[in-house]
Amino acid sequence: MSHEGIRIAPKDPEGPTSKAEHTLPRISVTPQKVRVLITEGKGMEIDWVDGHRSAWSFAWLRDACPCATCVEERKAEGRKIDQPKPKPTAVLPMYTPPAKPASAHSVGRYAIQFNWQDGHSGGIYSWDYLRRVCQCRECIFAAEETTGAPN
Ligand SMILES: [Zn+2]
Ligand SMILES: [Zn+2]
Repeated sequence: MSHEGIRIAPKDPEGPTSKAEHTLPRISVTPQKVRVLITEGKGMEIDWVDGHRSAWSFAWLRDACPCATCVEERKAEGRKIDQPKPKPTAVLPMYTPPAKPASAHSVGRYAIQFNWQDGHSGGIYSWDYLRRVCQCRECIFAAEETTGAPN
């Protein structure tokens, strides 16, 4: 007797990235104003043309680095895009300062790149990517909603 036919539908197959399938309207992925608060060490804020506002901490952005290396690393560790790296299990508690970029610059008209203080700089954060990983309550809530049945 086999047990085939039992199918457990994964509740959340892709996590926040599952909504990344549909195309966003242009006004939703065009920033009107980008503030990179390096001196304050706070993070980045974007006002979008459609009136939406997003904000991310630098630590969050560093963990969500979209470069191939980091994507592979997250995949290997089974981490979602917004899951921070597990703290290394060091015997001695070490203070690691929160990630902060030394500088940031725009890449063409479609993305921003950070030169992180840890020397990493491969990630190109496209506006499209950033809008999809918006961390405001509204978007987080919407992301949770879309993983369930419509409505
Ligand atoms: Zn990276
Ligand atoms: Zn949002």
